[in-house]
Amino acid sequence: MSAASAVENLHAIRTAIADSARRAKRDPDAVTLVAVSKTFEAEAIRPVLEAGQRVFGENRVQEAQSKWPALRDAFPDLELHLIGPLQSNKAKEAVALFDVIESVDRPKIAEALAAEMKRQNRFLPCLIQVNTGKEPQKAGILPEEADAFLHSCRDLGLTVTGLMCIPPVDEEPALHFALLREIARRNGLSVLSMGMSADYPTAVALGATHVRVGSALFGSR
Ligand SMILES: *Cc1c(COP(=O)(O)O)cnc(C)c1O
Repeated sequence: MSAASAVENLHAIRTAIADSARRAKRDPDAVTLVAVSKTFEAEAIRPVLEAGQRVFGENRVQEAQSKWPALRDAFPDLELHLIGPLQSNKAKEAVALFDVIESVDRPKIAEALAAEMKRQNRFLPCLIQVNTGKEPQKAGILPEEADAFLHSCRDLGLTVTGLMCIPPVDEEPALHFALLREIARRNGLSVLSMGMSADYPTAVALGATHVRVGSALFGSR
């Protein structure tokens, strides 16, 4: 996909987010587009940065390390979100490189991140990934365990600002978005990262504060 079309896609996605927010009587500025740039090289990402996009998501620490330090030198105000499963031996690199961790998905990772943030004196906002579809192969905390896990994360010293989910591919995403919103509401959490290329307008209608859009922006992977 050419750079011009990624920028065209960016404008179309921003318009769709704003339309969906207005229809739901929400402030369009209350929704942040997280541009998911995994598998795309710096040359594909740069035009999107030049067009004004500043928030990006990557799912692998090593891949992000290979392309983002140079992009950050050029665009110091960008914000990088980790959206994929983290291994505890990569916590050090993740805390140094990312600005938000969206994928706190198990106790061991919460512990590793808390220890590393203290070591680096770098306290990043974190989201808890909830496995709303209770899929055995999928990362995340079960919905019924989310409240207790949130408390244990806070006891460790993590700053948990919200929740993230990836609904099952073959189910109506709105049900999962509504469930995530309810877990956030009862815990007083304000950040809801939900909605991807196929369903972000629905997520915005149901209260998403962050939508994570990859293929609709950069093209198929
Ligand atoms: C890849 C990915 C996305 C983006 O998916 P698209 O369908 O390409 O928009 C969003 N969230 C997570 C966690 C991902 O891994």
